[in-house]
Amino acid sequence: MTVLVSSRSWPNSPLSSLNEIIENDLCTDTICMKTASSDYGKLVQELPLGVLRPQSVSDIIRLVKSSYKSPSPLTIAARGNGHSVRGQAMAKDGVVMEMSSLSNNNNSSSGISVSWNSSLGFYADVGGEQLWVDVLTATLVHGLAPVSWTDYLYLTVGGTLSNAGISGQSSFHGPQITNVLEMDVITGKGDLITCSKDMNSRLFYAVLGGLGQFGIITRARIVLDKAPTGVKWFRIIYDDFEKFRKDQEHLISINSNGFDYVEGSLITPSSPAATFFTPDDESLINSLASKNGILYSLEAVKYCYNTTINNHIDEELQVIFSSLNFIPGFIFNKDATFFDFLNRVRSEELYLQSLGLWDIPHPWLNLFVQRSRIEDFNQGVLVDIVQKQGLSAGPFIIYPINRNKWDDRMSVVIPDDNEDMFYTVALLNSAGASVDPSVIDEQNRQILEFCDKAGINIKQYFPHYTNKQQWMKHFGKKWSLFKEMKEQFDPKNILSPGQRIFNSH
Ligand SMILES: Cc1cc2nc3c(=O)[nH]c(=O)nc-3n(C[C@H](O)[C@H](O)[C@H](O)COP(=O)(O)OP(=O)(O)OC[C@H]3O[C@@H](n4cnc5c(N)ncnc54)[C@H](O)[C@@H]3O)c2cc1C
Repeated sequence: MTVLVSSRSWPNSPLSSLNEIIENDLCTDTICMKTASSDYGKLVQELPLGVLRPQSVSDIIRLVKSSYKSPSPLTIAARGNGHSVRGQAMAKDGVVMEMSSLSNNNNSSSGISVSWNSSLGFYADVGGEQLWVDVLTATLVHGLAPVSWTDYLYLTVGGTLSNAGISGQSSFHGPQITNVLEMDVITGKGDLITCSKDMNSRLFYAVLGGLGQFGIITRARIVLDKAPTGVKWFRIIYDDFEKFRKDQEHLISINSNGFDYVEGSLITPSSPAATFFTPDDESLINSLASKNGILYSLEAVKYCYNTTINNHIDEELQVIFSSLNFIPGFIFNKDATFFDFLNRVRSEELYLQSLGLWDIPHPWLNLFVQRSRIEDFNQGVLVDIVQKQGLSAGPFIIYPINRNKWDDRMSVVIPDDNEDMFYTVALLNSAGASVDPSVIDEQNRQILEFCDKAGINIKQYFPHYTNKQQWMKHFGKKWSLFKEMKEQFDPKNILSPGQRIFNSH
């Protein structure tokens, strides 16, 4: 078997200072090294010294402890499903911890178990390595489901909780990190600590949105609620940004009998409407997009629990629709099962895979934007840069999120203002044969420069920076605490080096 080795060779490497058993456990064959040195973004490639496929939580503790005690500690990156786009789950010359191997070993992982108690209600204890699609499948068996999601489910619990985990449900339930009751975390010292808002709370809040800097999540206790049986799913088309965003904001402000999910996206000649619509509707919408240059598609979903008690849903929705200002007649809908709705990106993935268009570079830019400047952002970024340059088919997602469910003690960073909502903007570009990633990265640079010059308060989601000053600016008033917690929980800078926070200059 061919062996890919990193630039630092074994005999004199820091590995020799680690526990010999661990050294023997590391995988360095081509498959291990290739997987560990690549991610969904296909923009960064960093070779580790080797890959550990832990069979148990104890294996993780053993490696982290050995590294911590070593005079020349090795960096360690937990790799969830490797769906980062800029090498965040890589460890150059360190060890990549392939978390999925825990779920392959039935005896080792905390798996997924559903429980109830009178103080917490229903909840699931899930291994940090678990994919959200598996959490959904396992909880649906009990008629239950987590309340907060990401658009795509083939992401791990540990990976999304290290960021935030957002989707159209975030306005109503908060991001995924708001819906965690307790976690088991292995710190950078190799200590396994159970934490919650009342127990080791400093570690608990540090880890939520903490970019993997403070510990490896091996178990998370996730809030569950009764699962809907089906959904009513709508796409509503606008040719005017102000009307679109006012209606989005209105829909996330309805407290009862409103929608359960609200998102939105751009439709442009280079990023046309697809998949949801019938072929006739699709060509109607796309011809209007060609004429106008840009349209906005509001996506809203209403959960249905039981057909017999849902008789009034349609009437209630009609009342809401009558207050909206979309292009007359441009409202489209379909019904779906709850599982198919949540797992909607999977069919697109399989389709793109069949065309060879999934495993291509993804120079994504994800931003949180202050609400009061979103009109300027629309004109300066979405119209004048994204639409006019028309570099890729996107998708380009934009929707507001209520701020009230985001706890400021969590490490995640959102725009620092007193507004009750902020916008998430996901510019999910693909590169490849037709456009080089560097061309899209240049566009991303122009977007950041525009926001900077226009004084629009933005924060990157899945932040990617190359120097310490930028990281300090990103964290703002949270920086000193973030740094302090790093010194407390990972003083030797072992964990998640691919984020390049404490190893940048
Ligand atoms: C197609 C697609 C759609 C997406 N949609 C959304 C979306 O709708 N909403 C959203 O919020 N995000 C979305 N994401 C982004 C996704 O949440 C992040 O990329 C996430 O990091 C990926 O999870 P992963 O399990 O692959 O983590 P990885 O990429 O493997 O790891 C990400 C970071 O977390 C660390 N990490 C991984 N596991 C653990 C653990 N157990 N404990 C501690 N640290 C850990 C890693 O070291 C790394 O720093 C999407 C990504 C893709 C590719």
